[in-house]
Amino acid sequence: MTEHAVIIAGGGPTGLMLAGELALAEVDIVIVERRLSQELAGHRAGGLHARTIEVLDQRGIADRFLSEGQVAQVAGFAATLAISDFPTRHPYALALWQTHIERILAGWVEELAVPIHRGREVTGFSQNDSGIDIMLSDGRSLRAKYLVGCDGGRSVVRKAADIAFPGSDPTISHLIAEVELAEEPEWGMRNDAIGIHSLSKIENGNVRVLVTEQRVGNTGEPTLTDLSRALITHYGTDYGVHSPTWISRFTDTARQAARDRNGRVLLAGDAAHVHYPAGGQGLNIGVQDAVNLGWKLAQVVKGTSPQDLLDTYHAERHPIAARVLRATMAAVALGRPDDRSKALRDIVSELVGMDEPRKRLAGMMSGLDVHYDLGDGHPLLGRRMPDLDLVTADGPLRLITLLHRARPVLLNFGEPHGCDVTPWADRIERIDAQYAGILELPVIGAAPAPTAVLIRPDGYVAWVGDGSHMGLPDALAKWFGPSTVS
Ligand SMILES: Cc1cc2nc3c(=O)[nH]c(=O)nc-3n(C[C@H](O)[C@H](O)[C@H](O)COP(=O)(O)OP(=O)(O)OC[C@H]3O[C@@H](n4cnc5c(N)ncnc54)[C@H](O)[C@@H]3O)c2cc1C
Repeated sequence: MTEHAVIIAGGGPTGLMLAGELALAEVDIVIVERRLSQELAGHRAGGLHARTIEVLDQRGIADRFLSEGQVAQVAGFAATLAISDFPTRHPYALALWQTHIERILAGWVEELAVPIHRGREVTGFSQNDSGIDIMLSDGRSLRAKYLVGCDGGRSVVRKAADIAFPGSDPTISHLIAEVELAEEPEWGMRNDAIGIHSLSKIENGNVRVLVTEQRVGNTGEPTLTDLSRALITHYGTDYGVHSPTWISRFTDTARQAARDRNGRVLLAGDAAHVHYPAGGQGLNIGVQDAVNLGWKLAQVVKGTSPQDLLDTYHAERHPIAARVLRATMAAVALGRPDDRSKALRDIVSELVGMDEPRKRLAGMMSGLDVHYDLGDGHPLLGRRMPDLDLVTADGPLRLITLLHRARPVLLNFGEPHGCDVTPWADRIERIDAQYAGILELPVIGAAPAPTAVLIRPDGYVAWVGDGSHMGLPDALAKWFGPSTVS
């Protein structure tokens, strides 16, 4: 039986990002992916939010996405939530279809020499103290230390791990499709007593159709006949719909895994949370799940950190997904076609026209306000480290470039050679630096200048110095394992 450190079930955006993170940490991994190629039948997600772009920038690959997409402001909560005044290198979202996002991620993962077993499914597993045996649809099995289910909303891994998936049942249902039409349709969005419908051109010359179904609870695979009927109901004609390349159904079901780990099995992305696509969050939080989990899993697999480091993955990411579920449920309520919901929409739109509410909601939608609860202290603690312009002994550099290798960094802004991390020198890069300007955080505003910061590989701040080194050895041990020198 072939043995690897980690098996990733599913090579969608989450699985690919996780594979990249683990490969950077030189962990032996394999992706098992059901699809024969990276091609997607439909375009699905429409883009990346600012924090995801920053995360990709941390690995030196943001330009690959930026060069193919179009920058845009974020829409949500009955208004456009501009972030152009946010203190980030990327104060925008990027319009780019999921099919391109996956292609670019897959290219990066290929450069990192990650093997992908395509055309095979994970069908089950059995785990014990020494490892996990993973069964595949071709009858073979693989052995690993950990299995990560990145296998989407209907996750086989989640079910086999017996992890509950509580949440709320659907209240609306849509058909979405990519088709050709024989007649010129009524382009754009239409609202009626049932909900929203839209017809728009997509890049390959086809038409993307979205219709709200009259009935909630249809579960079978949708067909061209279903789509034709729905179009006739709402538009009086099906415009001669034909040649679908994709027909799918989605609802506002909102569910979240009760826990993200059961022993040697972890969940990430849609396998851990599903929700309505309003606000375009799913792919984004999946990629960010992967970046939170990757370095932790790498350290545990290599034996530098104990297993309980993995518990911080659930502690940090579960609340983030929970608030996305809450936001999408609110978006569904705001989008209802009745007069009272419309009145509510008007009031919310007035509110988000004000600076403070706009910043709060845009901070959440863009992911730039993410705050992991690492205790009280400096505003930076548990938040993303801004991409400062640094001056170091090697010359000027952007802070974010220090994270390209996905290794922790201790930045010392105080006396040169301060902050001794010698006992962790095999794991942590330590750099004396200065920066110009003020330290400013999205939503929060200006923050006091720290004398040092300990930055995790995911770009979040694990410790902030205020002139002393108090708490630094504890933070180093907590996040990066016991020191090698006693
Ligand atoms: C209409 C629509 C619009 C959306 N718009 C947005 C948007 O604008 N922004 C956004 O962020 N998100 C959006 N989303 C959500 C986004 O598409 C998902 O959140 C995202 O694809 C999740 O990525 P994932 O890798 O976790 O799961 P998936 O993309 O579902 O990938 C799972 C992978 O696992 C494979 N797989 C499944 N089972 C197995 C198995 N047993 N063994 C091996 N492989 C398996 C699948 O083939 C697939 O490749 C939208 C979704 C829809 C439906």
